[in-house]
Amino acid sequence: MVTVGTMALAHGCPRCSVPIAQVDPAAGPDGEWSCPDHGVVPPLWRPPEATYDAFAEHLSASNGFPTYLPWPLSPGWRVTDFAAVGHRGTGFATMTCCSGTSGLDGPVDVLVVSEEAGTGLGSRVAGTPRADPGIDMSSAPEVRVRIGIQAIPLWVVSTSGVPGEWDRSVVAGEANGCWLWMVLRPASAVLLLGDEWILRDVSGLGPPLVELPFGGAPPPW
Ligand SMILES: [Zn+2]
Repeated sequence: MVTVGTMALAHGCPRCSVPIAQVDPAAGPDGEWSCPDHGVVPPLWRPPEATYDAFAEHLSASNGFPTYLPWPLSPGWRVTDFAAVGHRGTGFATMTCCSGTSGLDGPVDVLVVSEEAGTGLGSRVAGTPRADPGIDMSSAPEVRVRIGIQAIPLWVVSTSGVPGEWDRSVVAGEANGCWLWMVLRPASAVLLLGDEWILRDVSGLGPPLVELPFGGAPPPW
C-alpha cells in the first residue's frame, strides 16, 4: 500500500495479479515498479473499497486521463470498482465498474477500460490472452456507444479458448486515440448496449461526482 494524497490505493501490475515491487525502494512510489512476469510496468492503482474519497484520489492519480462511466447511472446502480495505471503525471489506463440489476439479466456488471495500446489492463479485465483486442474493424460493429458528440463503434472481442472461461461479453473499439474496452457480465447483458449508451469522461467533472453512489461488491478480475 502506498499513500497517494490522503487515501491508500493498493498498487499492482496492470497485466496480472502477481504482486509487484519497487525497483529502487528509495525512489518512492513515483519510481519504477517491476512485475516478476512482465518486467518494469507502470503501476496499477486500485482502492481497497470504492468510495467517493478513493475516487477523488483515483482522478488525481490518473491526472486527466479519461475515466468513463455510463451516464447517467440508472437508479439503483453503483460504482463498485475503479483503477488507474500510471505514475503521477502520466496516465496510461483507467477502468471503472458499475453494477446494478436489469430485468432480463439480474445482477449485471459493466466494466469500462480506456487504455493506451499495449498497457494490458483491458485484456486482464476481459480475461483475454492478448494485450490488444484483436478486433476486425473492417467488419460491421456489434454496438455503438456515445461519448460526447461521437458515436464510438465497438466490435466483439473473442473470448473463446480462454482457460477458466466465465460468462461475459467483451466489445472494444477506439476512442480518442485509446482502446476502449467494455466487459459485460453476464454475457447476455451486452444487449443492454443496444439503446445507444452514453459514456461520460468524468475526469474533469468535479462536484457532481458527489452525487454518484459508490460501494458494493467489486467484480473479480
Ligand atoms: Zn504482471
